[in-house]
Amino acid sequence: NKTDIGLIGLAVMGENLALNMADKGWRVSVYNRTVPGIEEGVVERFINGHAQGKSIEGYTDIARFVESVAVPRKIMMMVRAGSAVDELMEQLFPLLSPGDILIDGGNSNYEDTNRRVALAEARGFRFVGAGVSGGEEGALNGASIMPGGSVSAWEEVKPVLQSIAAKASDGTPCCQWVGPAGSGHFVKMIHNGIEYGDMQLISEAYWVMKNLLKLDNGEMSSVFSQWNEGKLRSYLIEITANILQHKDKSGGYLIDKILDTAGQKGTGKWSVINAMELGMPLGLIATAVFERSLSAQKELRKSAAGHFTCRRTEVVYNKSEMVGDIYSALYASKLVSYAQGFAVLQRASDSFGWNLDLASIARMWRGGCIIRSIFLNDIAASFEGNEKPQHLLLTPYFSNEMKQLLSGWKHLVAQAMKEELPVPAFSSALNYFYSLVSANLPANMIQAQRDYFGAHTFERVDGLRGQFFHENWTGHGGETKSGTYNV
Ligand code: NDP
Repeated sequence: NKTDIGLIGLAVMGENLALNMADKGWRVSVYNRTVPGIEEGVVERFINGHAQGKSIEGYTDIARFVESVAVPRKIMMMVRAGSAVDELMEQLFPLLSPGDILIDGGNSNYEDTNRRVALAEARGFRFVGAGVSGGEEGALNGASIMPGGSVSAWEEVKPVLQSIAAKASDGTPCCQWVGPAGSGHFVKMIHNGIEYGDMQLISEAYWVMKNLLKLDNGEMSSVFSQWNEGKLRSYLIEITANILQHKDKSGGYLIDKILDTAGQKGTGKWSVINAMELGMPLGLIATAVFERSLSAQKELRKSAAGHFTCRRTEVVYNKSEMVGDIYSALYASKLVSYAQGFAVLQRASDSFGWNLDLASIARMWRGGCIIRSIFLNDIAASFEGNEKPQHLLLTPYFSNEMKQLLSGWKHLVAQAMKEELPVPAFSSALNYFYSLVSANLPANMIQAQRDYFGAHTFERVDGLRGQFFHENWTGHGGETKSGTYNV
């Protein structure tokens, strides 16, 4: 009389996933470590609380927990990312049977997952690194789940994972096999990076409405609600509308009482680091990460504000025109961000041999996760088919969208710059777009400088690609080229 699946880690995500599994008819064993004097009674509290009356069995002994799950076992870990997962694996290995499957649902670094898949397989087990997005609510009612790792495990974990995943509007579960090794966690990392970008862009839209248009919170909430009826329809736009009209117990708007210092847990930073490692531009997400860092330097900003007086004009803007321009800036910058993110996924897929299906990934993000939105349907459609598009913004649908949006977008960025109002992500996206559509860039100067001081060589416009030249710029330099890697 064994259970269908085991779940380790009864913090907010683990508890809710266990409840979700039980609601879908699975029998679940749960386990949480007991740290004497600190975290005692976690399992009992859950079993006698939320899990009461459900098909959930609680264990405080890890061996008895493992024993309670039917073989080949499926054991999902929802514990703090990092060394906790390695420690748990070492505890579990002696207790498992050959072919058992460990699923890591935490926000693990994909390189850790690469290593863990290899380690588990070398010991005769299977390992799935599954990114889970959707927070507490998603864990309980349907998350977006991005599994990758030991391929043969998919058919066995698929029924459980798809049953607890969110369903997109066409009924497809937001959980599909991503690829081998750490690819599931890589995709989740880029999801989180895109989430950073979306949040920064929405914040800039809010800031322009507030500071240049002087809209009050109620008016701004209405604008976001309207946008949520159109192409920008998404979870983050929806909650922004709600946040703007939320009043606390004192009757005042809570948003105006929240300190402007943003926190971060690291997945945005990882996205940027990995894009850099792959030699790919991910400027919008980088800007979003750096803006959070700058926001956290509150004291510095306060004293800097005392040194420079911001010169803002008293121009009264036309509301509908400027709201239209903000819409264009937000939508176009968001497209840039997704195009950059998906390009990083494609490069990772090519570099690591993952064979990622970008259309399937876009479809998986349509429900359950924080970046869920209607326009992911259009992104999925653009990636559909055998012919891989060169770039998302060059697909027929999105290149047409960009052409429509450009005028309002550049007007808004120019206006904000003149008014000395920061719109770092809107302008980063616009600069990326201008560079992208420039057949010529000033990188010829960079190459000349590199060759001048370091003999790094250059290619010529009238030469063949891959043919490198070195110039004796000063007349007294040598002919010797640098052998340094040339990228
Ligand atoms: P936490 O990230 O706070 O993790 C707490 C859980 O990990 C507790 O059950 C804790 O046990 C356990 N744990 C910590 N160290 C160890 C260890 N050395 N050995 C065994 N167990 C350990 O909880 P969350 O529920 O927030 O997140 C779980 C995972 O899901 C994390 O990787 C997180 O990044 C990811 N995630 C979280 C989301 C969220 O919205 N919170 C969304 C998506 C993913 P104990 O009670 O004994 O301390």
